[in-house]
Amino acid sequence: MVWFLIRLLLLVILFLLLKRLWTSLCGAVRDEGGLPPRSETLSQPMVRDPECGLHLPLPDAFTVQTEKGLRYFCSRECRDAYLAKEHK
Ligand SMILES: [Zn+2]
Repeated sequence: MVWFLIRLLLLVILFLLLKRLWTSLCGAVRDEGGLPPRSETLSQPMVRDPECGLHLPLPDAFTVQTEKGLRYFCSRECRDAYLAKEHK
């Protein structure tokens, strides 16, 4: 009877160790992949900088309301250059 209990205890310990290993492996895969942020970036609307032609995600763009409508720029430099041209 005592041997049976010891074996049961060992099985439980083994099970817990395997479970821990499994969770750590799953966690490592999740950390390594970083898929949710990447897919979010992909699903973000892309806009084009009319000054340099660069495509960038909308949240990263400098948005300016011009006479021709909304324009998106990768940097302040591009925005200023575009606005300077437009007002000539
Ligand atoms: Zn630009």
